[in-house]
Amino acid sequence: MSTARFHNRYPHARPTARDFWRLWREYRRNRPPRVAFPRAGNDPAWLGANHSADTLTWVGHDTFLVQWGGLNLLTDPIYGERASPLPFAGPKRLVPPALAFERLPPIDVVLVSHNHYDHLDAPTIKRLIHAHPHTHFVVPKGLRRWFTRRGASRVIELDWWQSAPLGAATVTAVPAQHFTSRGLRDRNRTLWCGFVVEAAGRKLYFAGDTGYSRDFADIGARFAPIDMALIPIGAYEPRWFMQAMHVNPEDAVKIHQDLGARLSVAMHWGTFCLTTEPLDEPPRRLAAACTAAGLPAGCFRVLQHGETLQLGTPPVNR
Ligand code: ZN
Ligand code: ZN
Repeated sequence: MSTARFHNRYPHARPTARDFWRLWREYRRNRPPRVAFPRAGNDPAWLGANHSADTLTWVGHDTFLVQWGGLNLLTDPIYGERASPLPFAGPKRLVPPALAFERLPPIDVVLVSHNHYDHLDAPTIKRLIHAHPHTHFVVPKGLRRWFTRRGASRVIELDWWQSAPLGAATVTAVPAQHFTSRGLRDRNRTLWCGFVVEAAGRKLYFAGDTGYSRDFADIGARFAPIDMALIPIGAYEPRWFMQAMHVNPEDAVKIHQDLGARLSVAMHWGTFCLTTEPLDEPPRRLAAACTAAGLPAGCFRVLQHGETLQLGTPPVNR
């Protein structure tokens, strides 16, 4: 790991030690109650045999199986019980992974946006290295060694705006407004990013974690229109603390607009309890924000855990 630190591209509020203390107290006082989320069925055999249709299946949190231009991609895969370095403490999973690890089709590409425990899960990565040895891991600058140390042989490390070919596809790392750390002294030593995957003339965007900033207008200027954008809608309260690093549903709608996205799909909600908003609030607020922004019905979808969306079919408003 290098000793350099990475920085966001635009100014934002920076929390002080006092803010962390205040956050910890708020979090202890305002733990939202658990919610039972419905699960949708999916068809792993069909997904395994599919090499032509673009599909999206929500495994939970930021983990999607995306079939895009003939490639099988996984985003920020976490199959663990906790988003934590410790097996006995830290945010516990509320909904089991909604597509079993053993039933995943051969994975060509794994996109990892940053090193936080709810996005980079060491046990899941080790399982992928063994079960899918031909997988390419695409990671932000500074994370390659974390993967090669665990036995990954195909690691593509990208800086913001840097691209790499993936067969007939191209992947580009794009900026986000966030931070990184896995321990106490490694803050911002590795980069954070989103990704644009261009394949078969279609563009997929995966945001990772981010606050709202002008980064999205910049991404839109280079890549709009985006065919499908995966955008976080959860982990946003208390706002006084989270705003700089995590978007809320209203910000997510602005990102959708900045990117010129034809279709957006919500992520980063309903799987781990990370913050203080009610666990089922993000989709409700998203629906209200879409209406307030005058978006056409069905262009910002919320999937159930496990749900598969077949793309190219007209969106159905839920
Ligand atoms: Zn994060
Ligand atoms: Zn996160």
